[in-house]
Amino acid sequence: MEDCLFCKIASGQIPSDKVHEDEQFVAFRDINPQAPIHILIIPRRHIERLTDLGPAEAELIGQMTLLANKIAQDQGIVAGGFRTVFNCGEGAGQSVWHIHMHLLGGRPMHWPPG
Ligand code: AMP
Repeated sequence: MEDCLFCKIASGQIPSDKVHEDEQFVAFRDINPQAPIHILIIPRRHIERLTDLGPAEAELIGQMTLLANKIAQDQGIVAGGFRTVFNCGEGAGQSVWHIHMHLLGGRPMHWPPG
């Protein structure tokens, strides 16, 4: 997608602080971190929102979750606990229309989220 910020980050057109990249996914630090560790995990493929996923994406979303586990291990936030979040839709706070999993950790997390 030509106008998509996260497609441009995935392709390297826009710089980011990447912590992981492979054929399917890119993970980079959020520019406005809400926790000491705040990483966004995105598929390279442009998918607008969580509800655009179907059975064909079951493998992709499973791999994304496994990658979040691996990055949480690498970042040393497993023992203290971490949170993963998908915001879906404007009402939930989605501001970038390319699915991304927020991975947050490094501080106590509170519930309910705002
Ligand atoms: P959401 O509000 O769930 O759509 O999350 C979008 C996230 O992208 C926000 O946490 C932003 O801080 C983050 N973000 C926006 N632009 C950039 C960027 N250029 N590099 C890294 N993170 C970004």
